[in-house]
Amino acid sequence: MIAISKLANSVKPSATMAAGAKAKQMKDSGIKVYDFSLGEPDFPTPAHICKAADEAVKAGHTHYTPAPGIMELRKAVCAWYKKVHGLECEPAEVLISAGAKHSIHNALAATLNPGDEVIIPAPYWVSYSDLVSMTGAKPVLVETTAESKFKMTPAQFRGAVTQNSKLLMLNSPCNPTGTVYTKQELEALVDIAIEKNLIILSDEIYEQLTYGDAKPTCVATLRPGLKQRTITISGASKSYAMTGWRMGWTIAPAPVIAAMNNIQGQETGCPSSVSQYALLAALNGPQECVAEMREHFARRKDLTCGLLRKIPHITFPEPEGAFYVFFNVSAYFGRTIDGVKVTDSLGFCTAALEKAKVNFVPGSAFGQEGFIRMSFATSDEVIKEGLDAFAKWLAT
Ligand SMILES: *Cc1c(COP(=O)(O)O)cnc(C)c1O
Repeated sequence: MIAISKLANSVKPSATMAAGAKAKQMKDSGIKVYDFSLGEPDFPTPAHICKAADEAVKAGHTHYTPAPGIMELRKAVCAWYKKVHGLECEPAEVLISAGAKHSIHNALAATLNPGDEVIIPAPYWVSYSDLVSMTGAKPVLVETTAESKFKMTPAQFRGAVTQNSKLLMLNSPCNPTGTVYTKQELEALVDIAIEKNLIILSDEIYEQLTYGDAKPTCVATLRPGLKQRTITISGASKSYAMTGWRMGWTIAPAPVIAAMNNIQGQETGCPSSVSQYALLAALNGPQECVAEMREHFARRKDLTCGLLRKIPHITFPEPEGAFYVFFNVSAYFGRTIDGVKVTDSLGFCTAALEKAKVNFVPGSAFGQEGFIRMSFATSDEVIKEGLDAFAKWLAT
């Protein structure tokens, strides 16, 4: 018998991936499922990006690259931040990894020691707490409320700081809530981080997906010199519909990048060569594809919110970014729906999948009981039919 390590046993399976797998099983056995669980764009990767990958293969770019990524690409990331956010950085401050998830892992592994505390506003993206725990550091969750649009207030942040606090995780636009902090709100938080000498890890992977008046903020630019304590994470998965290419990046002070580079060099050697050429085309090429996808998401958001508002007892703050609605279903707890008594978000989602064939992710996976997450990265037809089936199930 091979015994499994304490490390592996302490890691929970990714709840979003598990929810997707269950629905896929049902679909494979011929059942029609309305799947609102997945955290990825349903669009194909834009053609010019695929073509660049094809050309990279033909040109023989099928070998190892330097561990932090090819120089051309790191320069392209710098140029993109300069143009879009006015952030100055050098290639030595950029590391390309196998997806933003891997970037976050490397960044945490390079900066945290056992016993360090990491402050995470909840609800939070599923992987944060497990990625922190894997380093031996401790996630400190700060509960927020729907009334404040799930934004952590400066007072809440201050209340969570101890002498062990090392790092603050920010994620705006936020998965699962769709919350976008304003520049002023972020300034108030970063000023406390500066005062308390904390590292800021800002996951900005949804920066190109905001709606209405909401604007994304590049946290590292908020105060002069803030770049020196900020680790900016982003990637191509969400903006360019490139989840399967596994391309993420980090911008951080050069010594942090050097440490991450050592870790990455031992772990994966380098990110995928072909994918790096695809990402290069994504950043340097035409950006209309991003605007087009954003328009589709904006329309689907309005459609989804409109339909959800018609369902009794469901409440939510309107999402301003990303592609999720995070809504309160706790009014249904304690009730029997179509023969099944639901008492929490996991039970609610299990019953909804079995009875109404609609698949959501329970809020408990994101550290927020009473709520569920619906992804609207799917067709108008699926949204209409799925929410109709959902409403009918709730009415029984
Ligand atoms: C999807 C997602 C990521 C990671 O995406 P990759 O595919 O690993 O680049 C990181 N953070 C958040 C909040 C996400 O939703």
